[in-house]
Amino acid sequence: MQILVVEDDEAVASGVVEGLTRAGFETAHVGTGSAALEAVRAGGPDFVILDLGLPDMDGTDVCRAIRALVATPIIVVSARDEEIDRVLALELGADDYLVKPFGMRELIARIRAVSRRTQDHTAEGLPPADTTRNVGTLSIDQRSRRVLLAGTEIHLTAKEFELLYYLAEEPGTVFQRSDILRAVWDSNWYGTTKTLDAHVAALRKKLGDPRWLTAVRGVGFRLEVPQ
Ligand code: CA
Repeated sequence: MQILVVEDDEAVASGVVEGLTRAGFETAHVGTGSAALEAVRAGGPDFVILDLGLPDMDGTDVCRAIRALVATPIIVVSARDEEIDRVLALELGADDYLVKPFGMRELIARIRAVSRRTQDHTAEGLPPADTTRNVGTLSIDQRSRRVLLAGTEIHLTAKEFELLYYLAEEPGTVFQRSDILRAVWDSNWYGTTKTLDAHVAALRKKLGDPRWLTAVRGVGFRLEVPQ
């Protein structure tokens, strides 16, 4: 697995690259958003660690642009630890978020957790049959991790996909927040309630109609065809 580290601060970058290399990851490093997009377009990385504070482009634009190109997992890194950035990062398509300063052990744990989640269904050879869940015009294929809405593909983050796939198991049924969090998020993730809300908001936007996902106060959420 090759990890692309996008970081303009040379001291931080060399520490991260060294730590990842020592942990057995193949790593590459670029210092600008444009170089990151170039590397992604060239089909390079399997994983991206993206610093939001870059000299040439806003990191949020870089994140959005990468996500528009590929489904490669992204962990966003920022010195800004405000809640708005955390929610924003997830809405932009990042799979996880880390605030500076962070330890290598934490970064590596996050990389492993995100990889596990995004590769689970293929790497572990789980359910080979019946991997597509259909809800009205929505078709969610677990094997290819593609989602089609009325025949048009919509691009989701790894978490958004898992949330949608989970809710699609029983359309119309209300799933409890605690069950959703347990099934879709692992214990390494914190701030889960707001995270779930942020993902629901992002999904509603991508599905183009908020009525796909109904919040049931005090209980949780259900997925249903908008009427
Ligand atoms: Ca920076």
